[in-house]
Parts: sequence; C-alpha cells; structure tokens
Amino acid sequence: METDTDWMATGNCRDEPPATFFPNDGVGVEVAKRICAGCPVSERCLEYALENRIDHGVWGGTSERQRRRILKARRLPLLLAETA
Ligand code: SF4
Repeated sequence: METDTDWMATGNCRDEPPATFFPNDGVGVEVAKRICAGCPVSERCLEYALENRIDHGVWGGTSERQRRRILKARRLPLLLAETA
C-alpha cells in the first residue's frame, strides 16, 4: 500500500544530505533547486509542501518565498469570489 510519502524515495534528493534542502542563504537555495530540477516527483513534492503548509526548506524546486506566493495566488480567486 502506498503512503502519501512513498514518492520521497524516488526524488533526486534521496541520496543527498537533508540539510542541503534547508539552506541558510540564497546560494544554498540555488544549490538545492538545481538538484530538484528534473526530479521525477517535483510536482508531487511541491503539492505536498503546499498542502502541509511546510514553511521551511526547498521543496519541489521552490523556495519558502516562492511557496508563499503560490499559496497567496491560489487564495486570491477564493477571496475575490467570497466578496463578489
Ligand atoms: S523536488 Fe527536490 S526536494 Fe522534492 S523530492 Fe525532488 S529533489 Fe527532493
């Protein structure tokens, strides 16, 4: 039976130190994003981080700031619909 995290075992990061994906600066973010590039499960990884509101680290090739923007963009149509 597949759990909702089985996909993690097939990511490009499976053999990388986890700390690589929790960088302290922009250079580290770019290093992690390069590993994510072409990852076969990047879309799923990104959705997992968004659904679980994971604030820290690089997931699905996105930085913390990028995920905040994605979440905001997804909420905007809902907010507009509520006020219409
Ligand atoms: S997208 Fe990046 S963090 Fe997510 S599984 Fe792939 S390599 Fe790992």
